[in-house]
Amino acid sequence: MLFDHPPPEVIDRAGLDQLVKLLRADGYTVIGPTVRGDAIVLAELANGADLPDGIGVDTDAGRYRLRRRGDRAVFNHSAGPQSWKQFVHPPRQRLDGPETVHRYAFLGTRPCDLAALAVLDGVLGAAPHPDERYLARRDEIFVVAVNCVEPGSTCFCASMGIGPKADRGYDLVLTERTGHEHRFLISAGSVAGEEMMDRLSHRRASGGEIAAGLQALDDAADSMGRTMPEVDLRGLLVRARRSDHWEEVANRCLACANCTMVCPTCFCTTVEDTTDLEGDHAERWQRWGSCFDPDFSFVHGGPVRETVGSRYRQWMSHKLSTWYDQFGTSGCVGCGRCIAWCPAGIDLTAEAAALAEKEEAP
Ligand code: SF4
Ligand code: SF4
Repeated sequence: MLFDHPPPEVIDRAGLDQLVKLLRADGYTVIGPTVRGDAIVLAELANGADLPDGIGVDTDAGRYRLRRRGDRAVFNHSAGPQSWKQFVHPPRQRLDGPETVHRYAFLGTRPCDLAALAVLDGVLGAAPHPDERYLARRDEIFVVAVNCVEPGSTCFCASMGIGPKADRGYDLVLTERTGHEHRFLISAGSVAGEEMMDRLSHRRASGGEIAAGLQALDDAADSMGRTMPEVDLRGLLVRARRSDHWEEVANRCLACANCTMVCPTCFCTTVEDTTDLEGDHAERWQRWGSCFDPDFSFVHGGPVRETVGSRYRQWMSHKLSTWYDQFGTSGCVGCGRCIAWCPAGIDLTAEAAALAEKEEAP
């Protein structure tokens, strides 16, 4: 869609700054990537200058490092430690009080994270019991997506059939082009996006620029650092229920829950009631939970999943198999965050490949 109909336009770096300015003038809190300490985080942007300037990242299993690039790229870094989930499904929220709904503009949402938002829509926003707070937040969001022209070594969205090109779920989509002229191919994907385009300074893209953009996306698909094995994952995980592989993973897994915290689709929560010491004021809070927490499956007498192996099996089986039964999609979008941010360097794609190999072994 991006490059077919309508044809993309071009904005320059000043045009990107103008977009941030216009969104803020329209009352949006603009959230985008920005450098904080040793990571690229998602936070409010006061202006376009807050975006990363020529900063890339090196990732691998259990590894994430910033590096200087030799250009002025603002979006050529793979997914960071946070996802957009935190803005639509906050880590902590009070349930028994009024809530202020922010008008967010998301700037720089990658195809994996667009897919993750669609997954959350199916989980939290769908009938018959939608989370009304989630829907209220979601309704207000203006999304400026970014096609991925430089995936990281932990990325595998192409093998999940998702990226590196965004095809829906955005108001505007950008493809960053560095080189002698720093510019962005830009297309609208909604009426709100078209209206914004009318206010932005832009020019038509040449045939050469469109072709080069397409080539960059083809190259990106071919250069994904990882691949999910091409097997029937749903069936594999069902059949692997009693595999000895889970205890092998448990020998490495710290049950720290990092993978569930960074995952853009993990949605589980727990609820806590608190009172002040005098007992005349009580509050009810919801916070993110994790299937790696023994309390998560605690029922009368103890946790259902006592071992770390059974908890990892639950997480991986849900992501890649039973999520289809519940919600009709994969629970994994191939962003690679759980690989980069696992302190033990446990790699979902490698564990899936190991399970498939074990099944094939005579
Ligand atoms: S797989 Fe890694 S990130 Fe997830 S709980 Fe185990 S050690 Fe933590
Ligand atoms: S399971 Fe891992 S790779 Fe898949 S969406 Fe979650 S964090 Fe990303």
